[in-house]
Amino acid sequence: MAAVRGRRCPAWSGRAGGSRGGSLASAERTRQRISPAGNRRLDGAARRIHDDVHDIDPSAAAARLPLGRSALRRSQRRLHFRRSPELRENGRARGGPRVSIGRYGFDPPGEAPGRAGTARPDRPGSVHAHVPQPGRSMERLPQKPVPRPREKPSLDGIRIHRLCLALSGASCRSAGRTGGMGRLRGGSSLAGLGRVRGGAGHGGEDGGGSIQRTSGLVRHVRARQHRADDFHRPGFGEGPLCRKRLRMERQAVRMSGSRKAVVVGAGLGGLSCAIHLALQGWNVTVVEKEPRPGGKLQRVEEAGYRFDNGPSTMTMQPVFDSVFEAAGRRREDYVEFYPLDPVARNAFHDGTVVDVTGDIGHMEEQIARYSPEDALKYRPFMKESARLYELASKEFLSRLVLDWRDKLQPSLLAGFGRIRPFTPMSRTIRTYFRHPHTLAMFGRYATYVGASPQRAPSIFNMMAHVEAGQGVFGVKGGTYSIVEAFAKLAGELGVVIAAGDAAKEILIAGGKAAGVETEGGNLWEADAVVVNADALAAVPRLIPDHPGASRMTSRLHKLEPSVSGFVLLAGAESDYPQLLHHNVFFPERYHLEFDDLFRKGILPEKPAVYVCRSGGGAVRAGAGEIPRSSLFVLVNAPAQRDGYSVENRKEEYAARILGLLEDRGLRGIGAAVRREGGLLRIQTPDDLERRTGAWRGSIYGMSSNGFRQSFFRYPSKDSRLGGLWYVGGSTHPGGGTPIVTIGGRLVAERIAKEGVRTGWA
Ligand SMILES: Cc1cc2nc3c(=O)[nH]c(=O)nc-3n(C[C@H](O)[C@H](O)[C@H](O)COP(=O)(O)OP(=O)(O)OC[C@H]3O[C@@H](n4cnc5c(N)ncnc54)[C@H](O)[C@@H]3O)c2cc1C
Repeated sequence: MAAVRGRRCPAWSGRAGGSRGGSLASAERTRQRISPAGNRRLDGAARRIHDDVHDIDPSAAAARLPLGRSALRRSQRRLHFRRSPELRENGRARGGPRVSIGRYGFDPPGEAPGRAGTARPDRPGSVHAHVPQPGRSMERLPQKPVPRPREKPSLDGIRIHRLCLALSGASCRSAGRTGGMGRLRGGSSLAGLGRVRGGAGHGGEDGGGSIQRTSGLVRHVRARQHRADDFHRPGFGEGPLCRKRLRMERQAVRMSGSRKAVVVGAGLGGLSCAIHLALQGWNVTVVEKEPRPGGKLQRVEEAGYRFDNGPSTMTMQPVFDSVFEAAGRRREDYVEFYPLDPVARNAFHDGTVVDVTGDIGHMEEQIARYSPEDALKYRPFMKESARLYELASKEFLSRLVLDWRDKLQPSLLAGFGRIRPFTPMSRTIRTYFRHPHTLAMFGRYATYVGASPQRAPSIFNMMAHVEAGQGVFGVKGGTYSIVEAFAKLAGELGVVIAAGDAAKEILIAGGKAAGVETEGGNLWEADAVVVNADALAAVPRLIPDHPGASRMTSRLHKLEPSVSGFVLLAGAESDYPQLLHHNVFFPERYHLEFDDLFRKGILPEKPAVYVCRSGGGAVRAGAGEIPRSSLFVLVNAPAQRDGYSVENRKEEYAARILGLLEDRGLRGIGAAVRREGGLLRIQTPDDLERRTGAWRGSIYGMSSNGFRQSFFRYPSKDSRLGGLWYVGGSTHPGGGTPIVTIGGRLVAERIAKEGVRTGWA
């Protein structure tokens, strides 16, 4: 190092053949653009790293490289080009065609960022959002997708990477290991460029000089991070200088705000994770295959009917509030909730009706009408349910369980001791109640996690407290308003939601997730990739060469999927005043349903039918009005399995469900949905799988039947690949809208924590 120190570094100079004076001039421009304190820190770190690392004559380093001289010259020219505003400006007149460097292109310097919530014309379906963050010295720009040109890949990226390593005194041994880098070459610097430009808080050419310096830093750090582990190995890069340099690089990355995350999937878990990462200062892009965010939570509007398609029973309101509070906002300003009382109507085959309510006395009265003994036990059962909820929220819903250290935490172990994790729900329920109505009413909560009451652990009895004790809320405008509110907040925090472009592959470099390639040909570079798409289905598809692929394949065969759903969107020009917002029609022998779903794997012959009256209203007809009902009808269905097709039975089964509803008092519903003015849409597990990527069309990934599948779900962090995380129903802490929202926050906080601890995630 000492031998080459002090020479001019043309790649750093800011213009072809430029001098060191050029870089200082650009530093001066940066100084005028950012806060004095931030400027001092950034410029100080940049200068030190420049002196230590970059101020080296590349030709001297060439002797240590397995590169030919012409390759080296080509590499130098590319570095000049990337770092020179003039060259870039010449390479692409503003508004002109994209410039390609190798396999990459970039937007012209000084291009104005999109405004919050506006669609990018160059990316159909994308929501491009950028709002300055108060209290931060640097403004962040959303990442730009880097279109993938068609030409054949060359090795230049690897060579540049090697050059970087050599210039910084690294061994070519580790450079050779990073073959994957070839896929991402240039992406680091270019994506970094856009953001650092925004980081200075200004567009335009003036900022260009400073951008180049900083992007050089960022890119260099990218090259280095693949051997971060090696750095601490004995015999490699030892010495206080190396350690100090690494520290400085990490500091520069943090200061430049250049940590980038890509979230694959815009379900509630993905959006929650994106919001919380953005709050931690990360630059986040959410890649979503469907044209709209929301995943399993959707709204369907057709022929004047409006349905909450997917989740409709919304619980744990404080969880949703906390997302907005974390961002210093009021949830009320984004989405309006209102309490539902009664919470839901349970209708039994013999005409008994129990309206679930938070009023314990009223509940006792209703239960006493058919079973005085059960009524006496309602209060103690609810107390037990509340106790389980407290334990769950303290011990299981508030932390990630990533490794054996997490698993062996004394408080977690003590928590297990207090919840009887091997006792099934139904056994606990039976210790309190005897009557089949009460057993069915409380056993059904197992389906909220896609499981059977006979096998799901007793902890899920907490749902009685969550629903009756804490309450269920309605959402003004329908449940999809929550997705809209999350997306709006995310946009305000600078998150880019690139909708309508499915992730095709997660790119791995140096044993670490380094970016995402999409079907549309975009490459999103990342320090951390979060998979919100159902991990069980997505990982084999998006990372075919995952080091744990064979183990995972064999494990997938052993896992039991959760239930799926057979859904009818039924629009009828009639009114059904006997319906509340949430209604359940129980069959005579409810427990048989779970035998059909899990043991036989078939559609239940006599299922419980859930009906959500998600929209009422009326249409004008002459002088009068015709009433209208939008009914979301859900029956539990088995997940996809070989040798059985729900698809083949869908018309016949839909008719059967409508028949069941007629028998239970919804007169003429079958005919109403089929005649003119009515509407009937059928959705099967295959549809759910197609639309959301759900593993085997299941609603919650693996079922929560049994201890292991409930408490040790798909890990939130990949154990084999660095920087790769998972959120959503398949993973810890589990499915359901509030739970995936919590999961998104937990993962974001952990990524940010690990990023700070190690310099990058
Ligand atoms: C019929 C039904 C009823 C339900 N009822 C309720 C209820 O009453 N209450 C409740 O709390 N919960 C309910 N749920 C469950 C709840 O909807 C889910 O647990 C929750 O919404 C899942 O969120 P998630 O974060 O796991 O993401 P998901 O909603 O699973 O979203 C994953 C996203 O990833 C995207 N994706 C997949 N592959 C790719 C790719 N390659 N590239 C880019 N994007 C990709 C998908 O398009 C999707 O948008 C219900 C679900 C269903 C289906």
